[in-house]
Amino acid sequence: MAAVSPNPSTLTAPARLTDSLGRVIHDLRVSITDRCNYKCVYCRTGEFGAQYPELSVEEYLRLIKLFVGLGITKVRLTGGEPLLRRGLVELVRELAGLRTLWDEPLDLALTTNGHLLDTLAAPLKAAGLDRVTVSMDAVDAPTFERITRVPGSFETVLRGVRAARAAGLTPLKINCVLLRGFNDDQIEGFARFAREEDVVVRFIEFMPLEEGRLWSPEIVVPLKEIVARIGRVLPLIDMPARDASETARRYTFSDGVGEIGIIAPVSQAFCGACSRVRLTSDGKIRTCLFSQVEHDLYGRFRAGASDEELRDYIFRTIEGKEARHHIGEPGFLKPSRSMVHIGG
Ligand code: SAM
Repeated sequence: MAAVSPNPSTLTAPARLTDSLGRVIHDLRVSITDRCNYKCVYCRTGEFGAQYPELSVEEYLRLIKLFVGLGITKVRLTGGEPLLRRGLVELVRELAGLRTLWDEPLDLALTTNGHLLDTLAAPLKAAGLDRVTVSMDAVDAPTFERITRVPGSFETVLRGVRAARAAGLTPLKINCVLLRGFNDDQIEGFARFAREEDVVVRFIEFMPLEEGRLWSPEIVVPLKEIVARIGRVLPLIDMPARDASETARRYTFSDGVGEIGIIAPVSQAFCGACSRVRLTSDGKIRTCLFSQVEHDLYGRFRAGASDEELRDYIFRTIEGKEARHHIGEPGFLKPSRSMVHIGG
């Protein structure tokens, strides 16, 4: 397979992906399967099975290289559940060998439910993965397994988290989607978990991206409430943002031990600083989680478009990135794909 040169002098389009609002896009999220071994109640209806096709590992690599040649510096592999994907370790090894336009290594991360991490953490680290984010929606086994609908999953994921930390896939982040009445009783437990397990716990406001119909404004636990509840047990202190496109508001505790992040796309949307673009498992570009249109990059690739034509297509697609989402506004429409099929 021919490599795509990241040399900016070979590009007809300007080297950096920039949308019509001047936002520079440097963060690519790639779904490498939309299969998942969990059926989290807020995400899935309960049916297993892939809905969209998957590309070969070589094809993902080829498409990702096009983006890297346009200024992407960070790639996050996701799904579905990316650890289910055959060829993952080889894909990570190839990606880890890529250089950005600025001749630096890619920042390479992966989001997982952690179920298979116990055995895969060390090989992934050895292949060049920098970090993982593990999704955990509870810190007690019964609540956790009521949400995942997989018996024994809590202990399995805990082993995975510890294996990832031991392998050096750090800083290790734990993402928890909070839903009122489902797991909001876990907030204080997660604050203790962050300190005891030396992980960054990030709470995420629930977005209307589920397969079924669960979302309502009332089910969202907003940032202010999370901060107030943790603060009643352990006072929180604001931490400065590391860069303008950071999605999480960061906090530590008064003794400096532990970190909490809160990602508040509903109550405090951060679209104005968005630096992300997504590639679905079947090779479609999504310029926003809530896009109503998808852009068929893989279709053009299959039809024989040249690298230069594909880069121009990516460039023009990014220019049309949506200004913001419209969650909670009259006329809001859920996208046709749900989170598990887009890639979170
Ligand atoms: N299977 C992997 C995992 O569990 O992390 C990756 C895919 S999963 C779709 C990515 C993240 O999206 C998870 O942290 C999940 O909790 C989150 N998520 C799923 N549905 C969501 C929703 N409607 N709102 C906010 N986050 C959601």
